[in-house]
Amino acid sequence: MALLAYCFVLYCLGGLSASVMYHRILTHRVASLQPLFKKVLLVLALPSGTPVQWVGTHRQHHRFADKPGDPHSPVLDGFRYAHCGWYIPSKNALICLAYALAGVFRMYFDGYWRPRTNQQYNDNAMDIQQDPFCCWLSRKFVYQGIMWLYATVLLVFAYACFGTSGIVATWLTFVVIYNLGDSINSIGHLSGKPGALFHRARNNRFLAYITFGEGWHAHHHDRADRANLGNTYLQIDAGYQIMQFFAHLGLLKFRK
Ligand SMILES: [Zn+2]
Ligand SMILES: [Zn+2]
Repeated sequence: MALLAYCFVLYCLGGLSASVMYHRILTHRVASLQPLFKKVLLVLALPSGTPVQWVGTHRQHHRFADKPGDPHSPVLDGFRYAHCGWYIPSKNALICLAYALAGVFRMYFDGYWRPRTNQQYNDNAMDIQQDPFCCWLSRKFVYQGIMWLYATVLLVFAYACFGTSGIVATWLTFVVIYNLGDSINSIGHLSGKPGALFHRARNNRFLAYITFGEGWHAHHHDRADRANLGNTYLQIDAGYQIMQFFAHLGLLKFRK
């Protein structure tokens, strides 16, 4: 039971940091955060990539969605490449599968790799480059050091508390976290209902419920400046609800 609770906390922190911090607040600037709280969420979000690289790449995706220039389009480059191959970069099935199943061990590879690759869109994130803390976190050796420490602390903690099953559970939880995040770039542009505007992004209810609302991806491509990714009460967006909770606590302020 304790092990399941630990995995659930990791899953929530992964969703919260990637969807709320990196995606909605840092990239699309839908809200501002209390400065110390922002630093905490930024550090939690690091397994998703460096702040500068993540924001630059994602803004590039919105600008050229499924057109030449999109860094990860399943329509143009196929499922595997859009899902996770573009990080490496590779379209090789075995390499993509190994990367997708690396789980928590992906942090050791990404710690070295992420700040050194996919930097060609950093100009889209000039505002992030002017933030001293984001800039510091995005530096090669800082990012590498934190990522290696991150993975090691998680694995040592899991082993100390739960033994070998703790290691397996941590690995599996990160396999789930990474693949849910990556599925927005792949499945989110292939399967589901279209949005109001003409683009290939799709609203996928099942995906939305397990990705803190990110599965309402067609709505998001319709209006990237909205904090709430769902359009109706039934289109539950857990990420937005968490943001509202933070706003009640005085930690977050919506831009509009
Ligand atoms: Zn998209
Ligand atoms: Zn976006």
